[in-house]
Amino acid sequence: MSTQRNSAADSDQGFLATPSPGERGGTGRGLASLARPEIRALRPYPHATWEPELTRLHANESPWRSTADTSGAGLNRYPEPQPRTLIERVAALYQVPADTVLVTRGSDDAIDLLVRVFCRAGQDAILICPPTFGMYAVAAGIQGAHVVEVPLRAAEGFAVDEAAVLRACGPEVKLVFLCSPNNPTGNLLSSDAILRIAEELGGRALVVVDEAYIEFATRESVAAHRSRVTNLCILRTLSKAFSLAGARCGTLIADPEVICLIRKVTHPYALAQPTVEAVMRLLEPAALAEARERCALIRDERERLMFALGALPTVKRVWPSRTNFLLTAFTDASAALERARRSGFLVRDLRGDPAFPDSVRITVGTPEVNDRLLEAWS
Ligand SMILES: *Cc1c(COP(=O)(O)O)cnc(C)c1O
Repeated sequence: MSTQRNSAADSDQGFLATPSPGERGGTGRGLASLARPEIRALRPYPHATWEPELTRLHANESPWRSTADTSGAGLNRYPEPQPRTLIERVAALYQVPADTVLVTRGSDDAIDLLVRVFCRAGQDAILICPPTFGMYAVAAGIQGAHVVEVPLRAAEGFAVDEAAVLRACGPEVKLVFLCSPNNPTGNLLSSDAILRIAEELGGRALVVVDEAYIEFATRESVAAHRSRVTNLCILRTLSKAFSLAGARCGTLIADPEVICLIRKVTHPYALAQPTVEAVMRLLEPAALAEARERCALIRDERERLMFALGALPTVKRVWPSRTNFLLTAFTDASAALERARRSGFLVRDLRGDPAFPDSVRITVGTPEVNDRLLEAWS
């Protein structure tokens, strides 16, 4: 059980006040005890109190908005830390309780925060299942954490090797990153396998499921199981299916005890006011409906593009995808990259990855862009 539950980070207007273990029914299993002891003991920066009804003379801000400032709240003021209305809207979007939500500057920020909070440099480790998203290993490298690799089973459609993951999880492994659907292979991992891994690791490690592409997969998030499997953490982002990569807004869904710890480490004013306002506009019903429609269009285009690419003589293989991209192997990847570029297209070169010496990753575009890309390769 953590002894740091009543730290200053928890007391921010009582918004994230930690419920008693009884209230949470079976949670509070001391997940905080997995964190670095320095972080558990850390006193966070006491950011300026958020009391919007009072005139702010406590944060050394300018009293005037710039006349060029078109924001709603005024960019002369520091933004609300972990804005309450934003958290509530995001929690509703992802159908999870608000006290299990932390908003971050994209999921990349959440990955970095998790590694910094849970891994001691030179001692602890993360576990990843390559080929997968590169940021997990980069965040570990920055923190000085080791990286344990358990490859996905290429012959079985890049399925997670459940037994091998569990075997490889020594006491030094604090975080297991599972990307589902996976980047760059495009496949979903089995939810049952993810849940069994998390259950098996119980109070020993956090299992972080990166669902950056789940909206394209027509599959439920594993977040529905988080209240039962408390060491499960989920990463969601508005960058892909919600057309908001430029705003930088990700969400970490985790046990309130984990959220409280990470709030101690995240920057006090992590989300810029223009981002908060852009996200609030996007979460209005009409904008959400538009995002859902476009997501469905991308799924249709993905299937069309997959078959069309597969019919090209220069294409060796297109992997099935539950995302908004297609992993594609060419007979001559260099030639394909060169032809794409000459026609004005950038596609992701994966040749540096030993798993994909002849492959590129193609983001599904608008129907007309996809047509022009196919033409360039025909
Ligand atoms: C794009 C991507 C992210 C990063 O999302 P941001 O919220 O923009 O930081 C996270 N995970 C995976 C697997 C991605 O492909």
